[in-house]
Amino acid sequence: MRIALAATLCVALAATTSTHGQARDTLDIYVIDVEGGEATLFVAPSGESLLVDTGWPGFDGRDADRIVAAARDAGVSQIDHLVVTHFHTDHMGGAAHLADRLPIVTYLDHGTTVDQAEGPRAAFERYVTLRTGAVHRAVAPGDQVPIDGLDIRVIAAGGEVLATPLAGAGQPNPHCDGFVFHGADILSRYGDAEDQQSVSAVVGFGEFRAVIMGDLTWNKEHPLMCPTNKVGTVDLYLVSHHGSDTSGSDALVQALQPRVAVMNNGPTKGGGPRTFESLSRVASLGDLWQNHYAVAAGDANRQESFIANLQDFDGANEADGIHRDAAYWTHVRATRDGAFTVTNSRNGFSRRYPARGGQ
Ligand SMILES: [Zn+2]
Ligand SMILES: [Zn+2]
Repeated sequence: MRIALAATLCVALAATTSTHGQARDTLDIYVIDVEGGEATLFVAPSGESLLVDTGWPGFDGRDADRIVAAARDAGVSQIDHLVVTHFHTDHMGGAAHLADRLPIVTYLDHGTTVDQAEGPRAAFERYVTLRTGAVHRAVAPGDQVPIDGLDIRVIAAGGEVLATPLAGAGQPNPHCDGFVFHGADILSRYGDAEDQQSVSAVVGFGEFRAVIMGDLTWNKEHPLMCPTNKVGTVDLYLVSHHGSDTSGSDALVQALQPRVAVMNNGPTKGGGPRTFESLSRVASLGDLWQNHYAVAAGDANRQESFIANLQDFDGANEADGIHRDAAYWTHVRATRDGAFTVTNSRNGFSRRYPARGGQ
């Protein structure tokens, strides 16, 4: 009888058991290396999954394979909610490969691309055929993504930001003084019309809060954070726009008061020197973790323990141009009290950050 009962319990616990075999009451976040694109997997204690962005297309489905590897590690067999922050290929491009590998139940995005160029429109139309066969919802600021145990709030989408602050937020932001908008020179160089449409969200789990913002631009950070901070503070800042210098204003990063930042940069994508410099001035920030060594940042790079992928990738390491090196993610595991642990999957180096005011 005792054995039978134990077996029943094992089955009951299976849905909330990681591949490491331990029952968990944690929010798990995998910042997946997609060589300068973005893909971040959130797994709730129930096992329900939220994937934000899908990396690049091509390379034999390389980025989708990396997402599947993270999903396996988390014990996830389908993507319950896919958020495509915006319709650039480094965020949307891997969706078709991924749909071939894992069921995607719900597609969430900002609706329709604002990019009029032929190539991007064709890529968008291919994505539309995917979401047409599933549940699709265009989200707006203030919307929730319904996942049991998590509090997920959209803070920006489709070029709009929160009209009213999130609960507990709305304080004046002293870091708005001196905010300098990026002018036409920078905007035209980066052609960021689609970036500023990015779906951005706060993911809450008990006392723990993380923010993820796609490629939301510097100029769009202003209405979100100024003159009052409509977001509040966070424990984890998933560094905006791969750490590009065209996002991550002081008005954003100082007011968020993150305790830890994880940057999903590539060797020569994002990881901008100004981003490193401005993060170094955030007094609350315990550590910055990087998914890649950032070539442009030089000595500003963190010590190797905090960098998931060290190789100086030049675009290819095979004769056919496909990068097949092993890739490593940065893993965050949070508990309801607001404590969390960050682990570099390359070397197993990890650091625990206690709950605010806790031990
Ligand atoms: Zn991007
Ligand atoms: Zn973009």
